[in-house]
Amino acid sequence: MTDRTVRCERCDTSYTADLPGCPNCRRIRQTNIAIATTLILLVVLAIAGWFGVQVLTGFSL
Ligand SMILES: [Zn+2]
Repeated sequence: MTDRTVRCERCDTSYTADLPGCPNCRRIRQTNIAIATTLILLVVLAIAGWFGVQVLTGFSL
């Protein structure tokens, strides 16, 4: 008889108390982390690409 449910304070979703945390909020957080990682990677690639173009144009001139 361990079917206790806990209600999340943030998204108001009820989940079983066996889980370490709200599965809905955890999924949202993982998605946010994935988006942030992708954005950082894109910024790094953009800076690296811009730097590479600067070096190439500097060599050609
Ligand atoms: Zn939640």
